[in-house]
Amino acid sequence: MTSSNDLFKRAQIHIPGGVNSPVRAFKAVGGTPPFIQRADGAFLYDSEGKQYIDYVLSWGPMVLGHNHAAIREAVIKAAENGLSYGAPTEIEITMAELVSTLVPSMEMLRMVNSGTEATMSAIRLARGYTQRDKFIKFEGCYHGHADGLLVKAGSGALTFGVPSSPGVPADYAKHTITLEYNNIDEVRRVFAESGDEIAAIIVEPVAGNMNCIPPVPGFLEGLRDVCDQYGAVLIFDEVMTGFRVALGGAQAHYNIRPDLTCLGKVIGGGMPVGAFGGKREIMQCLAPLGPVYQAGTLSGNPVAMAAGLAALTAIQQDGLYERLNHCTDVLTQGLRDIAKRHGIPLTTNKAGSMFGFFFTDVETVTNYQQAINCNTEQFNRFYHGMLSNGVYLAPASYEAGFVSACHSDALLDMTLETADKVMAQL
Ligand code: PMP
Repeated sequence: MTSSNDLFKRAQIHIPGGVNSPVRAFKAVGGTPPFIQRADGAFLYDSEGKQYIDYVLSWGPMVLGHNHAAIREAVIKAAENGLSYGAPTEIEITMAELVSTLVPSMEMLRMVNSGTEATMSAIRLARGYTQRDKFIKFEGCYHGHADGLLVKAGSGALTFGVPSSPGVPADYAKHTITLEYNNIDEVRRVFAESGDEIAAIIVEPVAGNMNCIPPVPGFLEGLRDVCDQYGAVLIFDEVMTGFRVALGGAQAHYNIRPDLTCLGKVIGGGMPVGAFGGKREIMQCLAPLGPVYQAGTLSGNPVAMAAGLAALTAIQQDGLYERLNHCTDVLTQGLRDIAKRHGIPLTTNKAGSMFGFFFTDVETVTNYQQAINCNTEQFNRFYHGMLSNGVYLAPASYEAGFVSACHSDALLDMTLETADKVMAQL
């Protein structure tokens, strides 16, 4: 048994910050992240043998719970036939057929290895298809770490975007327009002024990277209208919401058909997989059919496809999404009731099995400014209280949480009892 403290110290010698993705380092909440040794069902187990009820679920993929038997067995069986061929396989066709059945707007699709690759490729494709350079994204939405997507708003809605990370050239960021989430008037205004230069709108149909913020009625419908009016491509980044908010993703839940969709997380069942796809006419612009280049040595990897196919098969079981929805209701309602009893201002948001809670007086949080104005100090104390009592939440107040098929009523009750105990001490 090795302590997480010792592992964290050792990790930092050769790995920047000790982690391979920044949020894992607990910078926002402080302290040492538990180093995980194994996971099963709704539980994580750290290197000290401590058990946690997991509401992060590898940041979304594990909608069926960890170490799902059918996925594990599919991976083992696939691995026995070799790990990668770099040549076409039948399972890629089966996977494309199944994704296209579950998400009918994806008439054609291509597999990639991460959500970042999916969004980056979708933007390039939209630009190639429309022969326009600019695109719109929304403040607080995260679409992976490709250069053009690491951009924040300039000083006014119509000013050029500015890089949100050193290393992103200002000359490139200027093509990204960043607007307020859930503000359709702002989108219409920008299109009225420069609609013929805008290739695409990319949006998280439920924002999951500024806590959890669902679209207000009319927002997604408005984006669809504006794109139709100006010939721009509507891209739904469903990396988080795909197969999560509903079997058919947020587009099924809200009944809006995007032109392109980006997937990740659940589609790989825990393996590194992403996909992007949509209208045939647009997808046919991709190499080798068309001029827009995109490729990947390990794309459509047979082991990853086996995991993804097993996951997408298992999520079709009857009643899964009703059950997930119910769990999320119990959890969010429970948290609100407990906070109220303790006189702590708290509100929650949810969409399917994605949830968020905000320490704030605001009744309903609908945008980034409201999300970042919440009481982070209170969140951090709540966070550490929950962690030390065996409940693993996302280690930052601006991340969505998730439940899985393995989060039983008994586990939800335990979680709420823990929350009660922790809030009593806030
Ligand atoms: N889009 C969204 C909505 C995401 O939440 C994420 C990752 N959290 C990404 C894209 C990037 O995916 P990846 O980390 O697999 O590159």
